[in-house]
Amino acid sequence: MNSPTGGPSLEQKRHLVTAIPGPKSQALHSRRQSAVSAGISSTLPIYVQAAGDGVIVDIDGNSLIDLGAGIAVVNVGNSATKVVANVQAQVGQFTHTCFMVAPYEGYVEVCEALNELTPGTHPKKSALFNSGAEAVENAVKIARSYTKRQAIVVFEHGYHGRTNMTMAMTAKNMPYKHTFGPFANEVYRVPVSYPFRDERSGSDVAKDAITRIEKEVGGSNVAAIVIEPIQGEGGFIVPALGFLPAIQAYANANGILFITDEIQTGFCRTGSWFASEDENLTPDLITTAKGIAGGLPLAAVTGRAEIMDAIHPGGLGGTYGGNPIACAAALGAIATMKDLDLNSKATQLGEVLTQRLTELKAQFSTVGDVRGRGAMQALEFVLPGTKDPNPEFTSAVAKRCHAAGVLVLTAGTYSNVIRLLPPLTMSLELLNEGLDVLEESIADVMQQMVGPELASLK
Ligand SMILES: *Cc1c(COP(=O)(O)O)cnc(C)c1O
Repeated sequence: MNSPTGGPSLEQKRHLVTAIPGPKSQALHSRRQSAVSAGISSTLPIYVQAAGDGVIVDIDGNSLIDLGAGIAVVNVGNSATKVVANVQAQVGQFTHTCFMVAPYEGYVEVCEALNELTPGTHPKKSALFNSGAEAVENAVKIARSYTKRQAIVVFEHGYHGRTNMTMAMTAKNMPYKHTFGPFANEVYRVPVSYPFRDERSGSDVAKDAITRIEKEVGGSNVAAIVIEPIQGEGGFIVPALGFLPAIQAYANANGILFITDEIQTGFCRTGSWFASEDENLTPDLITTAKGIAGGLPLAAVTGRAEIMDAIHPGGLGGTYGGNPIACAAALGAIATMKDLDLNSKATQLGEVLTQRLTELKAQFSTVGDVRGRGAMQALEFVLPGTKDPNPEFTSAVAKRCHAAGVLVLTAGTYSNVIRLLPPLTMSLELLNEGLDVLEESIADVMQQMVGPELASLK
């Protein structure tokens, strides 16, 4: 079958020829253990030979279904033709001059595209960086410089990266922060709407969050409120309707910049270019990365022109930010998203996900919640008959999926969420096959860990 992107035409099918991981992967894994820091771990140590659309092929010849997309990065699939062609052309022309030294068109073109695609019709400008965390750090720098205020407000379960500033902004201790302090100061965390666990209206939780800001920080000290419209690492938490608009309205009324971190939700993932669009949010600044460039490292801050221009010349930048090869890849990726209408495709994948995951919830007492939007959906696992998190069950299901050749990722503050992030070029058939394996895996683990009695409790 040909790839819709014209990328590698790998057979779009799950096919295992060895145990997972196979002998070649195991050998490479022991070499890795002698060479690579133990601080870097891998969800599934199959070593990759090739990848395209819905599959990853490992060095043992196993073909696995990819429900992670490299953490929501290869939205356009691996090696989409336009990404490859643009990158190859750019590598042959020049690889780096540093935009701060001698600029080039690709950077400008990516900024033009971002200014056009991000929410809001107001004049916008952008700046490019290498990683999501770096984009978030720069959004904080811009917000502080523009507002002449210092405090940054973030939310429970939020994730913003692993640098010092962004560790301070990230909620979860293990593994992101543990032993790595002290963290940057002037970061304040307030409640987020988490419908499965708080069962309150979006506006009620927003009221609480705003009271906390007013009483503990003081609105006039706050430079920015930074929020993921759907929390990624936190477990695909979709705030109740009304929560995000209420937070934005408070920010707007108090001279606080409203910043949406769309690093995981962006670029067609939820069925829109950006998830902020769903409640008509207009962020003052938006951070993007992951899906932007088909797998090459690139990130951006895009925002109101007057804010982005308030920084002194030379105040922003970095040696590699907006590297020409990454920019070429981004232009190829964005063109692919438009050509293939990946927003509609994400919606189609989302319909399959919603239907199948909802069935799993009806079937299994360990599935407490199904949530997400478009091609970004998750299951939250609980102890049967309760809302108590069930991380052991979650990790057993993930392992069982991996052994059967389906790569799934976990998430969540309580490590009890399986999140699904298929590449948007994956076929619906392959997604369904991946979900069949997820269903079998849950059924199996139910028998092993919960026992037939509770397994039927529903
Ligand atoms: C992944 C992620 C980041 C950090 O991006 P890196 O490229 O890993 O630095 C920040 N915010 C969100 C919402 C993310 O999902």
